[in-house]
Amino acid sequence: MKKLPLHVKIMIGLFAGVIWAFLSSSVGWNQFTIDWIDPFGQIFIRMLKYIAVPLVLLSIISGISGLKDMSKLGRMGGKTLGFYLVTTVAAVGIGLLLVNVIKPGALIDDEQRIKNRLSYEFWALENGVEILDGKNYRDNPEYDHLYEHQEMSEEEKQMVAEKQAAASENKDAGPLAFLVDMVPQNIILSLGNDKLMLQVIFFGIFFGICMAALPDDKVSGLSSFINGANEVFLKMVDYVMQAAPFFVFCLLAGVIAKMADTPAQVFEIFKGLASYSVTLVLGLLFLIFGFYPTIIRTFIKSLTYRKFFKKVSPAQFLAFSTSSSAATLPVTMECVEENLGVSKNVSSFVLPIGATVNMDGTSLYQAVAVVFMAQLHMVDLSLVQQLTIVLTATLASIGSAAVPSAGLVMMVVVLQSVGLNPAWIAIIFPVDRPLDMLRTVVNVTGDTVVSSLVAKSEGELKED
Ligand code: ASP
Repeated sequence: MKKLPLHVKIMIGLFAGVIWAFLSSSVGWNQFTIDWIDPFGQIFIRMLKYIAVPLVLLSIISGISGLKDMSKLGRMGGKTLGFYLVTTVAAVGIGLLLVNVIKPGALIDDEQRIKNRLSYEFWALENGVEILDGKNYRDNPEYDHLYEHQEMSEEEKQMVAEKQAAASENKDAGPLAFLVDMVPQNIILSLGNDKLMLQVIFFGIFFGICMAALPDDKVSGLSSFINGANEVFLKMVDYVMQAAPFFVFCLLAGVIAKMADTPAQVFEIFKGLASYSVTLVLGLLFLIFGFYPTIIRTFIKSLTYRKFFKKVSPAQFLAFSTSSSAATLPVTMECVEENLGVSKNVSSFVLPIGATVNMDGTSLYQAVAVVFMAQLHMVDLSLVQQLTIVLTATLASIGSAAVPSAGLVMMVVVLQSVGLNPAWIAIIFPVDRPLDMLRTVVNVTGDTVVSSLVAKSEGELKED
């Protein structure tokens, strides 16, 4: 057991967690799992998160203050954002293509879809929203008998209201609000808030630039302190990762135990949304196993398919178990630096930004989910409306925090922007967590790919 590589051990932990969860729910031990096993999973996430913020800050400062050539920083910044944007838009495009070809929403029986359509039209009338494809089912007597007012359950109403409230925080803002939001007003507050990672990055970059601008003798003490502290946090990641197989087991067992009381219930939930889940999973798997490896193979010849996965898999497994790019960040940094050979200068700059703004899995998911829900309601989206989805899904994925379920919150914004009912998120909510796990793997893999590309183009990649 001792000799097995870490990623294999983590995989074993992951499978053991799933098997445990299924066994424990079949024999009624779910409460035991939640009370006695899940807390260790929570401890793991907490440890990763408290390491992530100081690690990001310290490694950005140490990376940037070590850059003697500031034009390199500008170039790297441009490339990073450019690559991130291209991969995100490509992901949305792939999502739209799949969902338009497979049409998962149209596989549901027509009578149900007409019922949905009628409720959509009445919702639009009530709320003064324009009906998207201009068709009119409600005044057609043929469908009269099908209309029934669709009530959400109390729980669903509460969930939708919460997500809407969270989304409106992001929405009611002017066009430059995102720039304003990047600048901290109080760095201590930014360090203490998960959602303010970009402010920490802004502060770190500026601090690093100022350090580089000062003569060495003035900052040498500070610089060795920062580098030393950075090493300490990296060591913490190392230790925590040694125990990762056990923690991942606890995390997965806990997540599944909380999802449903019996394994049969999990399957039941999936069955209703199978066509949607399959389409989405296909898209996400294509990104992981087709899209990224192709990019890597094209630009970095020395990295074979197998090698790439071997090197990044600890981060991928962790992304899957934690559903959070932010919590995975310390390990993503380690994998990228130690295994892929990306220099610290590049990884410490590219990865923290990527964890916050580059979410290819989330953007693909938003595109697939919105079109699926429109199909389910017999709403035909025009090309222009689908292009609006490309734009809003891209922006929404940039705006999503790197924490579990953030993509679902931002879905409210995407639905509203095309004029669809935001309460529809209740439809996909039951299967959201497992799909969140997979889209987080995509988000993290995308960051590792872009950091390798930037490093390669800057001559900062140590190839095997
Ligand atoms: N959980 C995802 C992440 O942290 C975001 C999402 O919900 O899509 O990357």
